[in-house]
Amino acid sequence: MPELLTLKSKVKLGCDMCDTCCKYRGDIRVTIKNIFDISRYMKITPNEFIQNYTHEIKGQEPERALNCKGEFRECILYDTKRKLCSVNSVKPLQCVVFPLFPEDVKNDYFYVIDQCKCKNKKEITVNEWLNRK
Ligand code: SF4
Ligand code: SF4
Repeated sequence: MPELLTLKSKVKLGCDMCDTCCKYRGDIRVTIKNIFDISRYMKITPNEFIQNYTHEIKGQEPERALNCKGEFRECILYDTKRKLCSVNSVKPLQCVVFPLFPEDVKNDYFYVIDQCKCKNKKEITVNEWLNRK
């Protein structure tokens, strides 16, 4: 089990905008709010978004996660030509906080996913990472 971090924990993090984290990702869950925000942003209905961009996953309760595409299993919302997230301003929490993973949001527990390819990581607190612009 990875080390659990709190908001005050110091970790080495950074982002070179390499977009590796939009490929070969596990399930990226979408909340009801994500579904409404992203479908509005894409100018489609929530139902069209659910049907065409997500699939059901079984957790403690049924949840929905983003679909993948192509040989690199890119996120369906990844803009391959422009090499960026097509819904960046409304992307799901898992993508906003990456490479942290929200283990227990209610208690502010996170852990680091060892998949980030950033070459310029710097020491930063979890709280600073979550509130960066
Ligand atoms: S893998 Fe790391 S460096 Fe690359 S885009 Fe994702 S967070 Fe940024
Ligand atoms: S929602 Fe955006 S940031 Fe998140 S994995 Fe998909 S393309 Fe990448």
